[in-house]
Amino acid sequence: MSKCPACGATLIEIDIDQHGQAFTMQSCSGCDTRTWQVDGAPSRLPSVLRSLGDECLPVSPTAI
Ligand SMILES: [Zn+2]
Repeated sequence: MSKCPACGATLIEIDIDQHGQAFTMQSCSGCDTRTWQVDGAPSRLPSVLRSLGDECLPVSPTAI
């Protein structure tokens, strides 16, 4: 188990498989800090959300 770098509490890890990639969300039980890893590498949340949302977001007419 990993520990939160901010408060030292145990991080809860949740694994998600999407598009053949392994996403891991680490959520702190103490201060609610959340970090993401993609295929074992740290990732910023916005880029992860973009990957996860590719098939969910409606295509904007102005983008065509
Ligand atoms: Zn924490």
